[in-house]
Amino acid sequence: MTNAQPILQMNGIRKSFPGVRALKGVDFRLFPGEVHALMGENGAGKSTLIKTLTGVYAVDEGSVLLEGKPIRVHSPQEAQAAGISTVYQEVNLCPNLSVAENIFIGREPRGFGGIRWKEINRKAEELLSERLNLRIDVQRTLNAYPVAIQQLVAIARSLSVSAKVLILDEPTSSLDSNEVKQLFAIIRKLKGEGMAILFVTHFLDQVYEVSDRITILRNGEFVGEYKAAELPRIELVSRMIGKELDVLEELPREAEEGQIDRKVWIEAAGLGRQGAIDPFDLAIREGEVVGLAGLLGSGRTEIARLFFGADRADRGTLKLAGEGGGVRSPREAIARGIGFCPENRKTEGIIDDLSVRENIVLAMQASRGWLRAISRKRQAEIAEEYIRALNINPPNPEHLVKNLSGGNQQKVILARWLLTEPKLLILDEPTRGIDVGAKAEIQKLVLALSRKGMSVLFVSSELEEVLRVSGRIAVLRDRRVVKEFEGQGIGQQQVMQAIAGG
Ligand code: ADP
Ligand code: MG
Repeated sequence: MTNAQPILQMNGIRKSFPGVRALKGVDFRLFPGEVHALMGENGAGKSTLIKTLTGVYAVDEGSVLLEGKPIRVHSPQEAQAAGISTVYQEVNLCPNLSVAENIFIGREPRGFGGIRWKEINRKAEELLSERLNLRIDVQRTLNAYPVAIQQLVAIARSLSVSAKVLILDEPTSSLDSNEVKQLFAIIRKLKGEGMAILFVTHFLDQVYEVSDRITILRNGEFVGEYKAAELPRIELVSRMIGKELDVLEELPREAEEGQIDRKVWIEAAGLGRQGAIDPFDLAIREGEVVGLAGLLGSGRTEIARLFFGADRADRGTLKLAGEGGGVRSPREAIARGIGFCPENRKTEGIIDDLSVRENIVLAMQASRGWLRAISRKRQAEIAEEYIRALNINPPNPEHLVKNLSGGNQQKVILARWLLTEPKLLILDEPTRGIDVGAKAEIQKLVLALSRKGMSVLFVSSELEEVLRVSGRIAVLRDRRVVKEFEGQGIGQQQVMQAIAGG
């Protein structure tokens, strides 16, 4: 690996989508016989980089060299023919065809009388057992096997077209720990045979388990390339989120302390969902703000969605106000006193073409049932009350929401949920993309509401604000709750260390 020429080199890759500069000049090198992890939070540009490499997208600028020669591929088929194969998270094979057919589809050996099935089956068996140590019945249909095996079949297909570069985009997201081990054993074997492997994951433990080298992207920018052994976890995390460790000074905390004596309002015990979040325990007391900290993709939003019934838990229990039964749907969650401001206010929250008034009364109207309309006069009164209370600008209930700034749109969504008088308000990234002033106002509002007895689950990628508003913090890593901090003196360093693990 050391003095060899890179088999693959990408220089200054730029790629924009309407309104988004997904890649802003990214460099990447891959050597034969190495496993290279491409790291970055969600949205950093990992999948886009891979798709420019495999011909799904054309690059706007930049060059790609394969074995020192410039290449330009226009489709995944062309990429594969050049020796670059990709296995995606969702297996892109044909579930109803046999394993053997999936491996050789489109390239079946033919003779007199059509396809030579015996030969296909024998070749498939050989390939799977010799290169992947996998002995299965190749005549069964693909969907008879678990996802882990299906991914191995996808890898086998790549090998059969003599790949030099194998790209795995989040291959482990839906695998259990045994399956991950099996996959890693194969990755190591292929690496030993000289294959160059590009591995995308946001599971930190896995990165350090198999990777030789790490490239970090942040916001479409190239942050750096490192040897895995020389990059401490905490530095990896701070580079992914863009914070130097030495600027992490301690912050004044405003969170309320000492609520241990309060009643627990919501309590998750062993709650989990396969492929989304490992079973976890988490309780929130009345009037308490509990923060969730962790990298994007670490499982924070998944917890929020389970609490709100937006996703169904497949294990464990959730008790509300001491009563079990969980929440089976958002409708039930609202009826039982839970409000949820989702992460993506543009697509899940705000309705652009409605007025501030209409957006505010939406959840209240929904919980009353659409047949019991709230009178126009009452709507206007409510809207004006909340515009005043939350300082929404401009203070005009008939203003179209799309013409408000991000911070004011966020306040409109908050108003909508506050109106339903929730016992628990779930805030997923409530201050993302809004200016500092509005941010501080929203943080203050959260604290004020909690003092009045409302419980809050506060999810944010800004560690500073999680620390500022939360009385207790649960830290997530790799879809697991790994640590809980409570009380005075939770420091940024401590929390960062828990996020990084190791
Ligand atoms: P990652 O894989 O690191 O999570 P992506 O490469 O998927 O990130 O996305 C990078 C950025 O480009 C994000 O802001 C995403 O919303 C945007 N993006 C990705 N694909 C498209 C697309 N087809 N159209 C518009 N925007 C896109
Ligand atoms: Mg991706």
